[in-house]
Amino acid sequence: MSKYVKSSKNTIFQIEDTENYDQLIDEEIVKIKEVLQRHPMRIPQYYYQLIDWDNEDDPIKKMAIPQIAELNVEGDYDTSGEASNTKLPGLQHKYQRTVLVLSTNTCFMYCRHCFRKRMVGYSKDEIMKRMNKTIDYVKNHKEVNNVLITGGDAFTLTNKTIEKYLYHLTDIDHLDFIRFGTRSLVVKPDRIYKDQKLLDILNQYHIKKEIIIVTQFNHPNEITKDTLKATLALKKAGCTIRNQAVLLKGINDDPDTLAKLFNKLTSIGIHPYYVFQCRPVKGASHFRLPIKQGIDIINQARLQLNGLSKAFRYIMSHPRGKIEIIDKTDKQFIFKFHQHKYDDDSNLLFMKDIDDHSSWLDLDLNPIKS
Ligand code: SF4
Repeated sequence: MSKYVKSSKNTIFQIEDTENYDQLIDEEIVKIKEVLQRHPMRIPQYYYQLIDWDNEDDPIKKMAIPQIAELNVEGDYDTSGEASNTKLPGLQHKYQRTVLVLSTNTCFMYCRHCFRKRMVGYSKDEIMKRMNKTIDYVKNHKEVNNVLITGGDAFTLTNKTIEKYLYHLTDIDHLDFIRFGTRSLVVKPDRIYKDQKLLDILNQYHIKKEIIIVTQFNHPNEITKDTLKATLALKKAGCTIRNQAVLLKGINDDPDTLAKLFNKLTSIGIHPYYVFQCRPVKGASHFRLPIKQGIDIINQARLQLNGLSKAFRYIMSHPRGKIEIIDKTDKQFIFKFHQHKYDDDSNLLFMKDIDDHSSWLDLDLNPIKS
């Protein structure tokens, strides 16, 4: 916990309320305010208190506090082709079995590495407007067996809205499970353990369908006593919890940190699921790592993990699908499609020459024809 108490606000929205404000020169303040025009700031007090201000490289600080480096807008805002998978406002259908719902553009914290910077805390254009149309779409697509309600952060929705989703979706026979994408477990765990109404709703509907909470812990310092309270509460309510970490430069780009994170998560019943290669999103280039380095870090971390804690896949979320980064030889990198947008890519294993410094895979947007 931080020994600093500069801000006593429940949520911090302004750079003026942060501990390092007094050390910033005018020019830096102007630049950070420019960043905030594009990607706003929002930090729950709970997460803010995890920052160690004495540590210049504190990982929590880097994920929460805006940085001037975000003004670098090299890259794209939609790196995995979400616009082209949108079938209705706020509803994406890229993989045959999964429908993804952008239910809100609000999050408890606006993470500085977010890949949906184009919309979170900013634009409501892409979020779901009519729940009935979404439910009808899922009902009419019998090939779909799961729905991911995300955003933004799905647990910023009211309990009433969460219940409405569950009421309708748990009644659809061809669905096997429903997922909620939320970082509340990481940045605001009391949203879960203090809200008995939310827990009662989850408990009521998990009997009809499996409910999976998908979250994003990126560093072991994010796991606290409050995490444990929220995790136990979710498990008691019948939910399963899965973690999707993002490989981030300066946060978790060393094997010991990753191994500690995955072992700790597994020990409290949060199962590592994916490790995502950081996407080439505008404003997050300072978090990106070369694929070559990523493979080395993951391989070395795996040596410290058991079967469960290393059951995750190292994934690049590409417009053509989720591409697993498997390994490298002396000359080439090995990839395999884990999820495909086009049938021709199904299970496709391929090798590519890649520059040692490349952090993304330059593939055609169309499927490979054999
Ligand atoms: S909680 Fe998720 S969607 Fe929201 S800012 Fe963080 S990474 Fe982005």
